[in-house]
Formats: sequence, C-alpha cells, structure tokens
Amino acid sequence: MTPPAAPNSAAARDIAYALHPYTDHRAHEKNGPMIIISGKGVRVTDDAGREYLETVAGLWCASLGFSNERLVEAATAQMRKLPFYHGFTSRSHEPLIELSEMLIARAPVPMSKVFFANSGSEANDTAIKMIWYYNNAIGRPNKKKIISRIKGYHGVTLAAASLTGLPNNHKLFDLPIAGVLHTSCPHFYRFGAEGETEDAFATRMADELEAMILAEGPDTVAGFFAEPVMGAGGVIIPPRGYFAKIQAVLRKYDVLMVADEVICGFGRTGEYWGTQTFGVQPDIITCAKALSASFLPISAVMVNDRVFQGLADGSASVGTWGHGFTYSGHPVPAAVAIETLKIYDEMDIVGHVKRVGAHMQASLRAAFADHPLVGEVRGIGMIAAVELSADKAARSPFDPARKMGARLVKLGEAHGLILRALPGDAIAFSPPLIMEIDEVDEMVERFGHALDELAVQAR
Ligand code: PLP
Repeated sequence: MTPPAAPNSAAARDIAYALHPYTDHRAHEKNGPMIIISGKGVRVTDDAGREYLETVAGLWCASLGFSNERLVEAATAQMRKLPFYHGFTSRSHEPLIELSEMLIARAPVPMSKVFFANSGSEANDTAIKMIWYYNNAIGRPNKKKIISRIKGYHGVTLAAASLTGLPNNHKLFDLPIAGVLHTSCPHFYRFGAEGETEDAFATRMADELEAMILAEGPDTVAGFFAEPVMGAGGVIIPPRGYFAKIQAVLRKYDVLMVADEVICGFGRTGEYWGTQTFGVQPDIITCAKALSASFLPISAVMVNDRVFQGLADGSASVGTWGHGFTYSGHPVPAAVAIETLKIYDEMDIVGHVKRVGAHMQASLRAAFADHPLVGEVRGIGMIAAVELSADKAARSPFDPARKMGARLVKLGEAHGLILRALPGDAIAFSPPLIMEIDEVDEMVERFGHALDELAVQAR
C-alpha cells in the first residue's frame, strides 16, 4: 500500500478524485491506493517497482494472466475492421455470430441462444428479467419470486445485488428488492449441525429450500440462482449430493435453475463448467470474467429452448423484446472472447486445471490444514480458500474487530503476494489458470511465511 503521498503524486490525485469500488472511503483517504502499473504472466508490478504474484487473478478473472499478445492482436485487428456495431433490431456482425456459436457448442447442457452484456451483474439482471418475461408470456404472471442463497454473490446492480446474500451489499442501499429471497448457505464446515453427516446436511439444505417454496406458494416462485462454487461469499464448495437434491425440489415446483458461472466457467473447477463438476442441469447460464480472460468486459446469458420459446412468443405478442445494452455483443470484446476460447482449446484448459489444480489443492492442504490459525482448507480445481479460526476444535471464527484476514493480506504484500480476504477471514486462492506448478509452490511457500508471521502477531 502506498503511504499517504506527496502533493500531486498519483496517490494524492487518486485520493482527491477517484471513488473506488468496494472500498472503505474513509480508510482510503488515510491509506491511499496500491497502484498497479504493469503485468506479465501471473505477476503484476506496482508503482514502486515491486512485483507481486497475483493469487486471485485480479478479481477471479484474469484467467490467462496479465499479458497475452494474441488477445492484444485480436482486439486491434477487430478495432481496425469494425470498432463498433450492435445487435439491436436484427442487426448483427461476425464476432457476435461466431462467439454465440462457440458458446452454444461448449454449453454443458443443450442450450438454444446466447445474449451478451458487459458484466456479470448485467447478465444476472438480464436472467431475472428473462424469467419474469417468460412467465408473463406463458400465462403465469404470479410466478415471479427469485431465490438465491445466503453468502451467494451475483453482482451489484439493483436486482443482482438483491440476489447477492452478503450484508454489505444490502446495508444502507435499501436492498434487497421485493420478491428476492435467500435460502441457507451450504457450507458444511460452518453450518453443519453437531453429529450431522454431509449427506444429511445436503438433505436439510434441500428441505429448507422446499419449505421456503411451500411457505411462499409454489405458484409464486420462478427461479433459483446459484454459483456452482460460491466465490466471494467464501469459496464454499457444496456438500456431496447437494445440487441433485436441490434440483429435485426445483423440478417438483417448476422453478427455473440459473447457474451463475461468472467465476466457475471456463475451467476454474477442473471441468469446463462448474455445473459439470457438480452435475447441475441449468435452464439459464450466466458467465463473464474468464470469457474474455478479462482483457475486455463482456458477459453472456445462455438460455435453453424452453426459455427461448417463451421469450420469442412474448416478443411476438408485444412487438419487440425491450431489452439490450448499447454494447451487447460489442465486436471488440467479442473478438477477444473468441480468441480466448481458442486459446483454452489449444492449451487444453480443463486438462491443465486438473493437473495444476490437483497439485494446488494438495499443497494447500499439506501446508496449512494443521496450521494453528487455520480452521479449514477447501477448494476444487484452481479455486480454494484457507479459512482462519480462533479455535480449531470449536471451529470458531476470529472476532472481526481483530481484522485477521486484512492483516494477512498486508503481510502477504511484504512477501510479494496479492491476497484477497473474504468475509469470515477466509483467504481466497483463484490464480490465473495459466499458473504452473512451480508458481503454485512459490505461492504456497510465500503464503506460509505470511501466515507464520500472523501467528506470531496473534499470540
Ligand atoms: N457473479 C459472480 C459469481 C461473481 O463472482 C461476480 C463478480 O465477482 C458477479 C456475478 C458480478 O460480476 P460483475 O462484477 O462483472 O458485475
């Protein structure tokens, strides 16, 4: 972190003018920004020339790291050929068509059509609007409520922030909006009852969902949103059998399943889609982040034929489907996404994540599962968390006032690591998917030094 800085320095200008996302503005006025200047491979460099290994790929997203000439070339070539066109009123262009075709070909279950937006939040808002429109179009105007999960993360626009099940996304924002409900978080380590098996816990999660649907009235509940692995809520891996039990409830009451693949999509969990890792059968899939390796913003919503037919009938009855962003399917990010998907195929992204991810999971467990400050090490593929605990046996968290996660992030910086602390003092690991085994070893070793220093401080 750059110390409060000389007048007219970049840090002083940042404090003077920039309103940062996800930041404590008062703390920022005091502490200033960390200014990142450049990136190469899995590393980034700050304005003092210090290099850091990026353990979270920025925001779980820079899947191909922080330098890639092919993506630069794809963007510049498209900018030269056609820098902008849109998809409104049946207009189209080559990147929009090719990327749509590529996504449908790669979908984990039969999907019919793709709609593009610019962010994960927009994709999830779009999915909610699609569900509402669909149910109106097929004559079920009362079936509108949406269920997501406590600790789920789905973004920050009005509807997506309502889906998100984290307190800071609702407090002082007058959210969630009406009609969005949150069911239990399937974190067995934290919420499993005394003596409860993992299977019994998964059954209880499904029972609680069913009870909520029955209490609300099944003819009022339209959709269920879930990340295959909850990311920002704490890297929460569902208990075995969870999604099969959840989907049985959704089918029983004809509730559409939306898989938020914004983090999990494109290899992160060791299959191409998180839904494949956990056997989910979604009606709608949202994705973003690794879709373009985050070189440019783009997100997508895939719908199955059942949903598409409802949307198409609805639009025929009112004249036009009144939804779309100026930059839906923008040709430049679309061209970058096409090249990204080609790179994934060529490097066998799934095979790579299976190999490097297995090493990452084993190394994190071997190094930290028995560490006195660590309650749980969890993860799958190339996503993991090391959750701190004040008392291993009792599984009790640290008092949030001690800011253990934030202190560890700071210590990590001194060891050349960019770390991310999630609620509950869980440190996330979601490195660029191009990370190699020796870089995993470096990440684990450096993190171990930071953790040991925290243990000394915590005594
Ligand atoms: N869904 C998930 C699972 C996410 O992790 C995120 C962002 O981290 C979003 C949605 C929101 O995406 P965006 O920040 O692009 O709006």
